[in-house]
Amino acid sequence: MTHENLGIVLQGDGVSEGIVLGTVARWDRHETLVEHVRLPESLVNAEVSRFHDSIARAEREIDELYVSLTAAAMGTTEGEHLGLLDAHKLMLRDPSIVNDTERYIREEHLNAEWALSMTLKRLESMFAAVKDPFFRERGQDIHHIGERLMQFLAQSGDEVPPSPLSQLPQGAVLFAHSLSPAEALAASRQKVAAFVIEAGSTSGHTAIIARSLGIPAVVGLQGATDVAGDGDRVIVDGFEGEIVVRPTQYEEILYGRRANRAKAVRRAVRQNRTLPAETPDGFSIVLKANLDFAAQAPHVDALGGQGVGLYRTEFLFLDRVRPPTEEEQTAAYVSVLEALRPHPVTIRTLDVGGDKLIRFSGPEHAGLRAIRYCLANEELFLVQLRALLRASRHGELRILVPFIAAPFEIREVRRLLAQASEQLAARGIKHAPNIPVGAMIEIPVAALSAEHLAKEVDFFSVGTNDLMQYTMAIARDTASPDYLTNPLQPGFLRLLHMITRAGHHAGIVTAICGELAGKPSFAPILIALGFNELSMTPESIPLVKEVIRRTPRSEAMALLQKFGNMSAEEAKDYLDSYMVEHFPDIVTPRFRGAPHYMR
Ligand code: PEP
Ligand code: MG
Repeated sequence: MTHENLGIVLQGDGVSEGIVLGTVARWDRHETLVEHVRLPESLVNAEVSRFHDSIARAEREIDELYVSLTAAAMGTTEGEHLGLLDAHKLMLRDPSIVNDTERYIREEHLNAEWALSMTLKRLESMFAAVKDPFFRERGQDIHHIGERLMQFLAQSGDEVPPSPLSQLPQGAVLFAHSLSPAEALAASRQKVAAFVIEAGSTSGHTAIIARSLGIPAVVGLQGATDVAGDGDRVIVDGFEGEIVVRPTQYEEILYGRRANRAKAVRRAVRQNRTLPAETPDGFSIVLKANLDFAAQAPHVDALGGQGVGLYRTEFLFLDRVRPPTEEEQTAAYVSVLEALRPHPVTIRTLDVGGDKLIRFSGPEHAGLRAIRYCLANEELFLVQLRALLRASRHGELRILVPFIAAPFEIREVRRLLAQASEQLAARGIKHAPNIPVGAMIEIPVAALSAEHLAKEVDFFSVGTNDLMQYTMAIARDTASPDYLTNPLQPGFLRLLHMITRAGHHAGIVTAICGELAGKPSFAPILIALGFNELSMTPESIPLVKEVIRRTPRSEAMALLQKFGNMSAEEAKDYLDSYMVEHFPDIVTPRFRGAPHYMR
C-alpha cells in the first residue's frame, strides 16, 4: 500500500465525536444562492417586477422590525439601532443598487439574482477599497441587505424565506468555510451526517450545537472545501479531528473498525448510569447536563445526569423573525422541568449577541450581548422572566444569568424578576417562591470580583468557553494556536481557583458549565480545584463519571500541585500521559503526525 493510493487526509480539530462515512455537499452562501439564467425578451419585464417585489418585501420586514424594536426600546439606547434600520431601508432604494440591477436585467437579460449579484460585487469591492474603516464597514451592510434580497427573491408569496441550507441533500457531510449557529441548526434539519468547517474552534457555538445534536464535526480545516467536490466520498473522524477525502477501501475498513471500537467503549461506560459520581476516597461531585434544546431532556437521565446545569434558551430565539411568546417559552421551560423532575433544572436567560445573532433585531446588536442586551430590552426580558416564573411550579427551577460583569446587573435582574412576579399576580398567576438566581462567571472581571458577586447570588456557574476567550484575548470562533487555548495556563488555573475559593467562602455552590467540564482528562483538575458540580453535553457524562470514580481526590490534588511548577505545555503533556497510563481503555490514542497507514 503506497501513499498515492490513499485518500487525502486532512487534520483539524475534532469538536464533536463520532466517525462517519458519507458524501460531500459543499455549501457556500453565494454559490447555492445565485442562479445564472439568460432570459428571453418576453420575460424581462416580469423579472424586473419580481426584483421590485423582493425590495418591497424586504422593506416590509424592516418596518415590522422597526415596530417591534420601538416597542422594546422605551428610553434605552436603541435610537442608534433604529437609525441603522433607517439606513438599511434607504439602501434598499439606493439607485446604485436598484438602477444597476434593473439595467443588467433589461440590457443583458440576466435573471434578477444574477443581476443583483453583479451589482453587489461591484459595490462591495468599491467599499472594500475605501480607507476609512467606517465606510469600509458599510460594505458589510450592503452585503447583508443583498443576502436578504437574494433570499426574498428565492421565495414567492409572503412567506419569510427559509434558510438556503434546507436545499442540502439529506444525510450529506456538509463542507463549509464557516457556519453560524443558526445555519448549523438549519442544516441539522436536513439530517446532516457530519460537519467539516474551515474556520471555527472547539468552544465556538457551532461546535457546541454539533455536540448537542450528536453530529460529528471537525473544524479548523483550512482548504477543506478546495479538495473535496460534491458527491465525493469522505470519512469524518470527530474523535481525532481527521477527514479522509476519497478514501480507499482499505481506509474505509480501518475507520470502520475504529468507529466500532469507539461505540463499544461508549456502551461499556454507560453501564455506570446509576452509580454515584464519587472518587475512591469518598469525594462526591454532581454531574449535570447542558441542554440546547428541550427535546434533549429525556436523554439526561438515561446517561446518568442528575439534572440540568445549563439550558441555553437562546436557541428558542434564533432563526426566527419574531421572539417566542410568553406561552411558547413557558411550554419549552415546563417540558424540560417536567422531564427532569425531581432533579433541578438551571435555565439560563437569553444569551444573544457575539456569534448568536437573532434575526428580529438584526446584526447591529452584535455589540450588546447577553444580560447587557436584556437590560437594554426590558420588555423582551420581562417576557422571558414571566415565562420562567410561570414554569417554576412544574419542577425545581434555578435561574442563571449569563455574562455578568458587576453586582449591579444581578440587582437589576432581581428588580425585574419582582416586576415580572407582580405582572403575573395581576393576572392571578402564581409561581414557586425563592427561586435561586445564579451568575455565570465567564468574564475575567467577574472572576476577579467573585467575592463581591458571591454576596448577590445563590450559586456560581463558570463559563470556561468565554472565560478562556476573554482571558487569553482570542476569538472563540476562530482557530488559535494551541498554546493560547490551553486551559492549563497557570494564570487561568489561578482564576478558576479564585472563583471556587470565593464560592466556598460564601457557602454557595460553584459549578462549571463550559466545555472543559465535559473533557474526561480535566475531571481530576476540576475536582482538585473544588468544583461542586460539572455540567456538560449529556453524552459526555458517562466518561467523565468513569474518570471520577477511578481517580482518588488526593491524587488529583497532587496532580494540580505539580502543575504549579510547570509550563502550560508541560502540564498538558503530563496530563496526557497520566490519562494514557491510567485510562488506556477509554482514551482515544493520539496518532497525530504518525503516517496514516499505521493507524
Ligand atoms: C461558556 O461561555 O463557557 C458557556 C457555557 O456559555 P456559552 O458557551 O453558551 O457562551
Ligand atoms: Mg458563555
